[in-house]
Amino acid sequence: MAVRPIVIYGDPVLREMGEPVEEINQEVKDLVSDMTDTLRKAKGLGLAASQVGSAKRLFIVDLSAIDIDASLLVFINPEIIETEGAVEMEEGCLSFPDMYFKITRPERVKVRAYDLDGNQFEMEADGMAARAILHEYDHTQGALFIDHLTPLARTLIKGRLKKLAIAS
Ligand code: ZN
Repeated sequence: MAVRPIVIYGDPVLREMGEPVEEINQEVKDLVSDMTDTLRKAKGLGLAASQVGSAKRLFIVDLSAIDIDASLLVFINPEIIETEGAVEMEEGCLSFPDMYFKITRPERVKVRAYDLDGNQFEMEADGMAARAILHEYDHTQGALFIDHLTPLARTLIKGRLKKLAIAS
């Protein structure tokens, strides 16, 4: 398939609420396949459809870089059912090159979604997997990791964000 360009902060598609996927047709399968190629090339842990310019409620997570037993996970029309705890971790985003921030998020998450075969599944995750799922889920809602920063922290990075938005 094909590597697609990753949308950078400043592009309005990143703020769009993802449209639910109505049918897992060839277009959706091609999108997931391209997203997989794009994520592997970028060496990221997760990628949402909006990050390749398609505001659909869909994301993928691939933790195989840090866990050899991990396989690629596809989440279509994901819902966060439960969260527990709170933990601060450094986080990056492929739409914000070279920017890393300490972000507090729930420690554990229970998510429900459909896979590429149209089967609904539920999954519980903690650690990096929970982090990646919550981060990518945000993208499907038009939310971004910088939204979790304190107002002060956001003020401090305003200039860097502006530069990124202008360059994109
Ligand atoms: Zn991201």
